[in-house]
Amino acid sequence: MIAFQSKLPQTGTTIFAVMSALAHEAGAINLSQGFPDFDCSPDLINLVTKAMKQGHNQYAPMPGILPLREAIAAKTQDLYGAVYHPENEITITAGGTQAIFTAICATIHPNDEVIIFEPAYDCYAPAIRLMGGVVKRMELEPPDYRINWNMVRRLVSSRTKMIILNSPHNPTGTILQESDIRELIALTNKTDILILSDEVYEHIIFDGQPHRSMARYPELAERSLICASFGKLFHITGWKVGYCMAPAWLTAEFRKIHQFNVFSVNTPIQFALTEFLQVKEAYLSLAAFYQQKRDYFRAGLESSRFKLLPCAGSYFQSVNYNQLSDEKDVDFAKRLITEAGVAAIPNSAFYTKKTDFGILRFCFAKKQETLAKAVEQLLKL
Ligand code: GLN
Repeated sequence: MIAFQSKLPQTGTTIFAVMSALAHEAGAINLSQGFPDFDCSPDLINLVTKAMKQGHNQYAPMPGILPLREAIAAKTQDLYGAVYHPENEITITAGGTQAIFTAICATIHPNDEVIIFEPAYDCYAPAIRLMGGVVKRMELEPPDYRINWNMVRRLVSSRTKMIILNSPHNPTGTILQESDIRELIALTNKTDILILSDEVYEHIIFDGQPHRSMARYPELAERSLICASFGKLFHITGWKVGYCMAPAWLTAEFRKIHQFNVFSVNTPIQFALTEFLQVKEAYLSLAAFYQQKRDYFRAGLESSRFKLLPCAGSYFQSVNYNQLSDEKDVDFAKRLITEAGVAAIPNSAFYTKKTDFGILRFCFAKKQETLAKAVEQLLKL
């Protein structure tokens, strides 16, 4: 026997892989893992092909190709009025998850405390623990999942190194309000607390609400690592390209890890994205595109026995199923696959303590016909 100690003894396989596999096995409609079931723009594919034919097939520079970083800087300045220098404040990553992992790896020392809000996307806590950091959790509750800032203040100690925020929020679809931003500024003012801001759904925000990027607020931007995803932006989750924006001193630390983790990211795709980003409509139209899907899915479920929670952003709709069953959410989600032929994520997966409010998350980044079929099957319950 080889003696071996796991680095993450409590961690199993991510719920997204588990539910997608179950959905696949059962031939169910997969509204669990968040990814579009429709294709990206053919123009984007043509641009990748063009870049490959032009010979852009070797390593990109470690931080990403400069024209792409310049395009991101221009977009950020345009939308949020913030200046990020492409040379030393923007790094192209192999997707949002790598950006988040690298940001945590570059900043968290053993015993540093990191505050996260649960339900939380499942990659934060394991990364913190791997670095020897301590996860300080605050549980948010349905239906509104508002942050109680008095409680956050009580979690802060001299060891607090970072607060992780995610707006629009996965899985709940909530967004940060102006009052949250004011509290965050007051809380971090004159401290050394960093912010990791997971903004991968920045353009999927509804009802005319603005996205409150950390980039908009100089007091927050100076301490923030902002992570973004082209997968969510252009329906290309499988291409795994994202980026991280942070002040130069933080970006320098970020790149020390990035260079030995992935070194650099897929070159032809970076050229294609650079060109595709020139047409603002490609990302500015995303909110209306997904709002239509949200409204369609919600309208479909209106007459069901599911209770719809609010959804201000992201491509996830949470529902309460208490009128249908008092089973645990994991059990109900499994039964939904076999009996309704629809897969969802049980939201207890997003709580360390598996806190179960009887809520499931459906992904509505799907074709109209997929959503129609799913609604039809869910209405039979
Ligand atoms: N972000 C996607 C979700 O929340 C999944 C990403 C993944 O499977 N790692 O469903």
